[in-house]
Amino acid sequence: MQGLGAFATHPISAGVRLMEYAGQRLTPAEAEARYPDVLGERHHTFLFAIDDDVVIDAAFDGNDARFINHSCDPNCDAVIDDGRIWIETLRDIAPGEELAYDYAYVLDERHSPAAKRRFPCHCGAASCRGTILAKKR
Ligand SMILES: [Zn+2]
Repeated sequence: MQGLGAFATHPISAGVRLMEYAGQRLTPAEAEARYPDVLGERHHTFLFAIDDDVVIDAAFDGNDARFINHSCDPNCDAVIDDGRIWIETLRDIAPGEELAYDYAYVLDERHSPAAKRRFPCHCGAASCRGTILAKKR
């Protein structure tokens, strides 16, 4: 998977709040100015949108949570609670297992095949949907 990844060093039970997805709090406009979306280019930032008003940029003041990769069949979930993002375990995790959650990115544009190719997933899960974009209805 992309980047460093984060791995369990000891057994972790399901339902444990592991850590906050920490970082600088930006407005969407500030985030866009910092990382202009270049058409056709592979996307890789440490941005995480909490809602329509706040985006966390873990490249600044971030912690180890930013190294956790995406999976379409994840063992963790990113839970938004009172304006902060927390990484929580979905199931028991064994030592050495890679931690992952579903990034489920949502774009302003339609999630077309071309958009999905800009946000590819190679997690290897049987249920891999080939993109880290969320399913849009
Ligand atoms: Zn996948």
